[in-house]
Amino acid sequence: MSKYWSDLVSQLKPYIPGEQPDIANITKLNTNENPYGPSPQVASAIQKLLNDDLRLYPPPNADGLRQVIANYYQLAPKQVFLGNGSDEVLAHIFNGLLQKPEPLLFPDISYSFYPVFCQLYGISFEQIPLAKDLSLAVEDYSRPNGGIIFPNPNAPTGRLLGLDAIEELLKDNPDSVVVVDEAYIDFGGETAVPLIELYANLLIVQTMSKSRSLAGMRIGYAMGSADLIEGLERVKNSFNSYPLGHLPIAAGIAAFKDQEYFEDTCQRVIDSRDRLTNNLHNLGFEVVPSAGNFIFVRHVERPAEELALSLRQNGIIVRHFKQSRIEQFLRITIGTEKQNERLVRVLTSQLES
Ligand SMILES: *Cc1c(COP(=O)(O)O)cnc(C)c1O
Repeated sequence: MSKYWSDLVSQLKPYIPGEQPDIANITKLNTNENPYGPSPQVASAIQKLLNDDLRLYPPPNADGLRQVIANYYQLAPKQVFLGNGSDEVLAHIFNGLLQKPEPLLFPDISYSFYPVFCQLYGISFEQIPLAKDLSLAVEDYSRPNGGIIFPNPNAPTGRLLGLDAIEELLKDNPDSVVVVDEAYIDFGGETAVPLIELYANLLIVQTMSKSRSLAGMRIGYAMGSADLIEGLERVKNSFNSYPLGHLPIAAGIAAFKDQEYFEDTCQRVIDSRDRLTNNLHNLGFEVVPSAGNFIFVRHVERPAEELALSLRQNGIIVRHFKQSRIEQFLRITIGTEKQNERLVRVLTSQLES
């Protein structure tokens, strides 16, 4: 607390990201990073830019990358908006498109940054309880609202909502912006991008942090009607005109162009997820069906907090949310085969003791 802070700042409860500990040999399964590095093309693309041209400001709308993403998804560049990580893109969306008299709706178990943005921008919200199996029922969102947002697949549950259900939501709420946060869509889900041309109220957010292994570069983007994107540009240009530097723009282009590497690494994560799911089942865990690069698990007998602690003592960090309804769950990022095997080995010996 400081007397110099505004009342708003004094009351903020900021988002707490998963830790990035500086410990050698740690098995880091807590923040859903990709276990594989980015495409090798990324490093050479960045290398080429390490010269005097860095004195120049980057293109304000990250033009080259914007065009590549537009081509990839068969959209026009004016339907794509880039930001410094999708968290920044989300901040502009909350600020510019979701500040409405009616409450914003999102699931009670969902990305924990959403309520933080609401507090920052003074947005009223209602959290809609997921069903007991942690699935989302679209009919629960048929109530007055100033917008709807959810991750698909959901985080931290991993559950995927089908495109038919999303379409129902869009039809039921034509006057609200419906934001689908597709941070994990490349690990087995189907993107809702083709619905953009049918629904002017659909906004899709994606990130290069997970499936494209560039969390350290901070690249996120939104896709939707030119109308929605123009709204976001108005906010951005009233905040920071150049959210992406030359290096992330080049890194992003290189990553998108290496389709083979992208498909190969996503498939490896998916195969490892299936294997880990089986192995944890056999150890007495319930595993929520996941379409992400993580699994959400609960042991039938052992408390989650105890398991997380003893994993940590063995050099493995996973995510435990001290939140009602999910305090007995652990969210475990899919690692390399070696990391996953280490996890299973440590859990096996813990559960035997
Ligand atoms: C990781 C994540 C983000 C943020 O990604 P960045 O682009 O790294 O800021 C957004 N939404 C969800 C659901 C995520 O899990």
